[in-house]
Amino acid sequence: MTDELSRKLRDLPSVDEVLQQLDSRFPRELLAAETRRVIDDARASLRAGKAVDLSNIPRRVIESLEAMQRPSLRQVINATGVILHTNLGRAPLPAFAQLGGYSNLEYDLKAGRRGKRDAHISPLLERLLGKPAIAVNNNAAAVYLALNELSTGYETIVSRGELIEIGDGFRIPDIMQSSGAVLREVGTTNRTRIEDYANAISGRTRLILRVHPSNFHISGFTAKPVLKQLAELGRERGIPVYEDLGSGCIVDLKPWGIDEPVVADSLAAGVNLVSFSGDKLLGGPQAGMLAGDPELVGRLRRNPMFRALRLDKLMYSALETTLRRLLFANWNDLPALRMISATASDIQSRAEGFCRQLHSVDAEVIPGLSLVGGGSTPDQPLPTFLVAISCEDTARAERELRAGDPPVVARIEDDRLMLDLRTVFEAEEESLLRAIRRVAASSAPDMSLPTY
Ligand SMILES: *Cc1c(COP(=O)(O)O)cnc(C)c1O
Repeated sequence: MTDELSRKLRDLPSVDEVLQQLDSRFPRELLAAETRRVIDDARASLRAGKAVDLSNIPRRVIESLEAMQRPSLRQVINATGVILHTNLGRAPLPAFAQLGGYSNLEYDLKAGRRGKRDAHISPLLERLLGKPAIAVNNNAAAVYLALNELSTGYETIVSRGELIEIGDGFRIPDIMQSSGAVLREVGTTNRTRIEDYANAISGRTRLILRVHPSNFHISGFTAKPVLKQLAELGRERGIPVYEDLGSGCIVDLKPWGIDEPVVADSLAAGVNLVSFSGDKLLGGPQAGMLAGDPELVGRLRRNPMFRALRLDKLMYSALETTLRRLLFANWNDLPALRMISATASDIQSRAEGFCRQLHSVDAEVIPGLSLVGGGSTPDQPLPTFLVAISCEDTARAERELRAGDPPVVARIEDDRLMLDLRTVFEAEEESLLRAIRRVAASSAPDMSLPTY
């Protein structure tokens, strides 16, 4: 250690010295702990050879506690045009009655005795899908639960073309292994035939699994049996067929240019069990849905892991609201579906109106593409219109939008800021206008926080 460094380290104030300079509107223990952290940080910075202004330490403590008082998880304006944005919470939540206090989560108000939490969604799901269904924490949990119940210690047959990885570490072979199911791969990456499945069935087989490839698409010399063939094979040989649909549309989105499998179609093809996410094309909160033959769904419901993977009351409330709106076709109250169904010309007129209100900002409306996102329809973008904004320093404008309140997330293309109003709620347009006027006009120096 150099003499200079040891002198600087000696100059670091003690916790008590800093505390004497601070007011006491925060609990004393908290203030002391935060002070210790800031001093430790300063020590680490000095050791790393960085310049540290010791007189800033008290201010850092207060700023850091003030930052902790502000909500971290908050609403943002999504101007990217990616409807199911993985980083922005996937499907935008419909406004739902938020429960304060107590609820009838597991209480049957009519009978006056203990009830099941499923009761809040199962009648709706049964009407939407025509089959019994349950919900767990997310679709990864649904896949795990199905494999664990139906195939632990025994084989599940999967095509080599379907051994996929979704984002953030969800890989079919890995989840199979941790569920206890034994993977029996058949076919090749690009072609798997019904005979491949038939030949693999043995006394050890308990399940045939079909996985929707979600975020990729193979084309060219490819083949796979249609669902009906798989279902027939399963029926003949007494092996249940389970399809992990990923997005799983409840409503057919083909009229809006999105070709994704519809859950009820899979069940009608004779598949015994399906699973899909609550926060992809369903348009609800994070959840995983499992629907199918009453006997299988009953077994999943009784598996001890169901209890570990169950949904909280807030999720039940949001899911119930979403499912009811789907059943009664209130698309306009389901933000994800409303955004998908908006036509390019709807968005064009909104974008032009928006542009006119930007006044002195250098902006124009140009054609572009929105994405569904969330691992669905990777090759089916939706035509849209973008507000293209020229700024002196585009990267800085983009950064300042993100740092604003409310934060705005936008994309940069061709050195211009691009706003896609498809994913912006109409009620957010006013604050978006204000944010854009502020960053496009500002020529103030970069406001990013100094380290010390
Ligand atoms: C998205 C997806 C999953 C994981 O679902 P989560 O709800 O994110 O847990 C599993 N399987 C497929 C095919 C998917 O597309």
